Amino acid sequence: MNAARHVRRARAPAAGVGRAAGHTGRVKRIALLGATGSIGRQAIEIIDAHPGLELAAAASGTQAVDGLAPLTQVGGDLTELLERAQPDVVLNAVVGFAGLPATLWALERGVTLALANKESLVAAGELALAAQERGGGLLLPVDSEHSAAFQCLEHRGLDQLHTLVLTASGGPFRGRTRDELVDVSPEQALAHPTWRMGPKITIDSATLANKGLELIEAHFLFGVPYESIEVVVHPSSVVHALVRFRDGAALAHLGYPDMRVPISFALTYPERAATPVAPLDLQSGLTLEFHAPDLATFPMLALAREAGLAGGTAPCAYNAANEVAVAAFLAGRLPFLGIADVAAETLARVDGAPARDLGDLVEADAAARAIAAEQIGALT
Ligand code: NAD
Ligand code: MG
Repeated sequence: MNAARHVRRARAPAAGVGRAAGHTGRVKRIALLGATGSIGRQAIEIIDAHPGLELAAAASGTQAVDGLAPLTQVGGDLTELLERAQPDVVLNAVVGFAGLPATLWALERGVTLALANKESLVAAGELALAAQERGGGLLLPVDSEHSAAFQCLEHRGLDQLHTLVLTASGGPFRGRTRDELVDVSPEQALAHPTWRMGPKITIDSATLANKGLELIEAHFLFGVPYESIEVVVHPSSVVHALVRFRDGAALAHLGYPDMRVPISFALTYPERAATPVAPLDLQSGLTLEFHAPDLATFPMLALAREAGLAGGTAPCAYNAANEVAVAAFLAGRLPFLGIADVAAETLARVDGAPARDLGDLVEADAAARAIAAEQIGALT
């Protein structure tokens, strides 16, 4: 899959999408999956404030969503809700591999997919892109770095690209040594310095697994080879992504760390609607600091690169092992450093064979989860 093709398609919106917000008065009907989460709640705020957006359907995993939208669903197969709703846009803000069927549903049908659920694209990369190819719809990233990169890359072919740079805040444990991470508690790991997010992604930010997942996500979204994607630590989270071009120019996307910006961009694309987020203040001083990530202390980033380069179902196994290990860490059953040990051991033991279909992928996910669970049992 090639990014130039993706970027070209994104520039020429699918029928109906460009007209939806604002111009003709036609309202975009949104199906919001993961409506009770961090992204979900911010998305509701954006939808409520925009006359061109309407919440047609809402779903959660376990919490009640009654009255939130005309159609609602708690748990179960989210594609049933999507079938009933027939939305213009699916905003997939479910956490984890559980978001996969909805991602494939939207891509297969050419329904615009605003994707926060990075795990589905990481796990199903090739299958998801093949589904998008058949469906011919838009895939708009909600992840802040990818929304930023999408905006920097737009209109330009991959041949003009030198490198794509994803920024990482470094999380709450930036600057620590491995010895200093031996005893860290879930509470300490959940105290993110710049972003307020759901628990799973907050732990992923502390281990740098989030940037690992984002590396793989960027590879599939933009078709950029892994060797041309760089990760840098940028503690203030003001630069979300940066793209270097072959002529020596580098374009960056800046803004305060606030997910309402990329959520609004994806929901109102190709328009750019107003949000309550403050404009960047330069008069009171802004220092931009960047560092190389500490891969020895935070091995989840290096492991993601290995899994991405291995291809096949290795990224699916990386994601599955991480999900199981993060849940165990949050439940107090695994030490913080054990998360990377579990992922490394799982990756070493899976075959990584490519998935031909969703069934293969579900099997690869389950096999990796079983290995990860066995490791956790052995480590604790
Ligand atoms: P969260 O834990 O706050 O919310 C997750 C939502 O998913 C909840 O509504 C929950 O009910 C729902 N859910 C979980 N399992 C489900 C299932 N099986 N079926 C249906 N719904 C289910 O998570 P979040 O922080 O909002 O993150 C959501 C996704 O967005 C994740 O993939 C995350 O990586 C991504 N993301 C989040 C942020 C952020 O700032 N929170 C930023 C970038 C990307
Ligand atoms: Mg991100």
